[in-house]
Amino acid sequence: MNIRLARVTDARSIAEVQVRTWQATYRGILPDAYLDALSVDKREHAFRDGLMRASPEMWVAESDSGVVGWIAFGASRDADATATTGEIEAIYVLPEHWSTGTGRELWKVAQARLLARNFTTATLWVLEANERAARFYRAAGFTPEAGCRKAIHIGGQEVWEVRYACALAPCPFDAPRPANNEHWDFIGTLSISSLYLSKNQTYRGYSLLMFDAGHVEQIDRLRADEWAAFASDLFVANRAINRALRPDHMNVELLGNVIAHLHWHIVPRFRTDPRWGGPIWTTTPAEMPMTRIAESEQLALVEQIRGGLT
Ligand SMILES: [Zn+2]
Repeated sequence: MNIRLARVTDARSIAEVQVRTWQATYRGILPDAYLDALSVDKREHAFRDGLMRASPEMWVAESDSGVVGWIAFGASRDADATATTGEIEAIYVLPEHWSTGTGRELWKVAQARLLARNFTTATLWVLEANERAARFYRAAGFTPEAGCRKAIHIGGQEVWEVRYACALAPCPFDAPRPANNEHWDFIGTLSISSLYLSKNQTYRGYSLLMFDAGHVEQIDRLRADEWAAFASDLFVANRAINRALRPDHMNVELLGNVIAHLHWHIVPRFRTDPRWGGPIWTTTPAEMPMTRIAESEQLALVEQIRGGLT
């Protein structure tokens, strides 16, 4: 299998792959009359135009028998998109090449190309009834965006589309993550998030509660039950840290300015701390004081907080 940039002369093969894949995928979802009437000629014409403009960017997967799949992507066309939101406009693989990794290879190329073009997120719209596609996108790292759903009309029938999103750059807060690294030590896993003691102990007991169920950047992208679980985890974690540290005050913040992945900062505050009476945050992360405590002291703190989680 060879993956290469599509050429204008691929327009007909691309149209054929799309029509055959639509007829196999959407039987029972879209009207038969509409599927049977799909015209390779008309689609070839539209693809030729797109390929000549080189927008969207298209890549094909080619076997000895010719083009067996393709992917099209570019800047997001959605009204709420930022300049760094890319979009997978379409991905098709002929039914006889399903489950061979061809779709995954096409997505990997698109991911690298979108990153190279300075996009940080990829989104896509998929028919809600297309469960096979949803499984593929989830396995590829996409998660459905809560509330992003729209009705469209295809072949005279109303169908629903849902939007999925995927962070393109590897996110350091995505689960599974290392139990220990230069930034944190694992304390415990709660219902939908995990608690870590920060290596920076300028504020003794400073911990991070990171969301475990996928890469999510905003609270309003969570389902109500996920938010309830995350909030309940915060309560348990906050209580455990309070029990272990007995601080004079507690700061709980969800900011996401540096790493957008949902995570709570739980910061015990003491009258003796360097910024008592003010926020802990300074202008840039580089100006934040960094305090490391002895390894044994760090681990004792981990144990102490863990003991209070129940
Ligand atoms: Zn993430």
